Amino acid sequence: MLAQALHRVTQRLADAARSAGRPAPRLLAVSKTQPAAAIAELATAGQHAFGENYVQEALAKQTELKQAEPHALPLEWHLIGHLQSNKAREAATAFDWVQTVDRAKLVAALARHRPAESPPLNVLIQVNIDDETSKHGCTPQEVPSLAAAIAAEPRLRLRGLMAIPAPAPEAAVRRAAFARMRHLFEALAIEHPQVDTLSMGMSDDIELAVDEGATLVRVGTALFGKRN
Ligand SMILES: *Cc1c(COP(=O)(O)O)cnc(C)c1O
Repeated sequence: MLAQALHRVTQRLADAARSAGRPAPRLLAVSKTQPAAAIAELATAGQHAFGENYVQEALAKQTELKQAEPHALPLEWHLIGHLQSNKAREAATAFDWVQTVDRAKLVAALARHRPAESPPLNVLIQVNIDDETSKHGCTPQEVPSLAAAIAAEPRLRLRGLMAIPAPAPEAAVRRAAFARMRHLFEALAIEHPQVDTLSMGMSDDIELAVDEGATLVRVGTALFGKRN
């Protein structure tokens, strides 16, 4: 079942990339609220990267997966939910990527707590691209200084940008937000040539996001079905 869904989504990504004339983006399987067994099933079907919104939920599933299959190849874990500073230690230990870095305090905390035996933590800056006062993410103007702070930390690796645009009904409005992210990303890459990841697009707008240059899409519903 999940293998078929993975196949369909992979096909969607390939089609979107072909019509956009861009390389196919990486797929992040968003497994929030899904049981560890569903992650194991998708991993068996070939999916490697998984996204979780809550640190505790991810830790519980990681423990369960390790107990069920101690010798399975390690998966790649991305934190895509808002991170409170008092959870930075656990996040820096349990994840390979944190996509939601949006303030300097978090940069310092993640760098301090990344275990010495692990490779540098991959970091994306979350941008509040629609300037919604209620949402997380830094402003576009804050990206350069935050990027410099991350790049100065040897225990962190700046990989790019992430956004969750407002769910506007009009496709043109959503596309414009994705395009603003691409411009920010291109500007960032001039300062920091190592950045390679623009994380945007979810189940409903994969095609738009890829057309505007997403290199990583975060997909939950189209893989696992509707969440409860
Ligand atoms: C839940 C979530 C997704 C996945 O959304 P779907 O519409 O289920 O594909 C992607 N990104 C973030 C940050 C999420 O919280």
